[in-house]
Amino acid sequence: MGNEKVAKQTIVVKLGTSVLTAGQASLNTAQMVELVRQCAQLKQAGHQVVVVTSGAVAAGRAALGKPCGHSLVEKQMLAAIGQGQLIHLWQNLFALYGITVAQMLLTRADVEDRSRYLTARDTLTQLLAFDVVPIINENDAVATAEIKVGDNDNLSAMVAILANADKLLLLTDQAGLFTADPRSNPDAALINEVHCITDELKSLAGGSGTALGTGGMATKLQAADIATRAGVEVLIARGSTPNIIAEALSGKAPSTTFVCFKAPVDGRKRWLLAGPKSSGRITCDEGAVTALCDKGASLLAKGIVALSGEFAVGDLVSLCDVNGREFAKGLCRFNHQELEQLKGVHSREFAALLGYIPSNVVLHRDDMVLLGNEAADKPYKTQKIS
Ligand code: GLU
Repeated sequence: MGNEKVAKQTIVVKLGTSVLTAGQASLNTAQMVELVRQCAQLKQAGHQVVVVTSGAVAAGRAALGKPCGHSLVEKQMLAAIGQGQLIHLWQNLFALYGITVAQMLLTRADVEDRSRYLTARDTLTQLLAFDVVPIINENDAVATAEIKVGDNDNLSAMVAILANADKLLLLTDQAGLFTADPRSNPDAALINEVHCITDELKSLAGGSGTALGTGGMATKLQAADIATRAGVEVLIARGSTPNIIAEALSGKAPSTTFVCFKAPVDGRKRWLLAGPKSSGRITCDEGAVTALCDKGASLLAKGIVALSGEFAVGDLVSLCDVNGREFAKGLCRFNHQELEQLKGVHSREFAALLGYIPSNVVLHRDDMVLLGNEAADKPYKTQKIS
């Protein structure tokens, strides 16, 4: 970070398996030492660092020394073998710089449930207050399909929200997101700044037939989408580039930066972004979309044109316009059976239809977060790199 005066920040550094193994079958200690040195440098400059680490399965596979890891349960076994080794290694490497680390293993269930989310947040905050580096991974050994985040990109976005981070740095085996596969297309340009995650970008990152999908760019875009809405700037950069953490954060190394939303998002709404999965979808008419997006209103049954999915009272649902664009999400005050009867109806008719009035509004403003990023004529900028 040189001699520049940089405000103290909380930075989440996400290290993918490809970075930790340097593309080989087992953890590459030399590479990890180098990354620890860079994290220590960040801390020396006064920043707080949180590490989201992959590599448990890779470490477990190397330790077991037998071919295995195809089924989910085998991968869970490998993670159970490898996680201990992984944290032990991190512990020893950070100790070289006199830094204490802590292990936190999370699953989706820990961020979905509001009280568990708050507990995880408080633990994380406390660790940072005591100058400890939290080392976080998914609790693979116990995570069933329903409660699994599934990839550490999305996990790192949740962690960035939990930690109230300023920046999330996703280190991978590519310099960022490209307009085409740089290995086969000489015209490929690095997308160095993203203002709005459009369908075009999503197809560049994950559409089948684009080699970019192999770098796990689709999940990185999902992570960027979640984190930027909560006010976290997200960067993708190549983990093996010398001094990459400082160089990417200061804008000197090639990288893709996702500019964060400026609107402050309060604690509860941050949880809505990080935590629960959506159980249903409510399509709203144009009047309702305008009232919600521009006038600070709550959602009334009258503005609902259709719904799908099965949800209970208090579940998270997505709100979409008639073109299917998701513009908000929030906690619904009705279950889907009730709402099926009430869609398009004025609240004064609720009692006659249901026999009771649980609430006059379907989704209250306070329980809702707007997602709208209809940004920019220019959703992203590119840069030619040699
Ligand atoms: N949690 C997995 C592991 O530690 C990695 C998942 C991922 O890299 O997305 O091996």
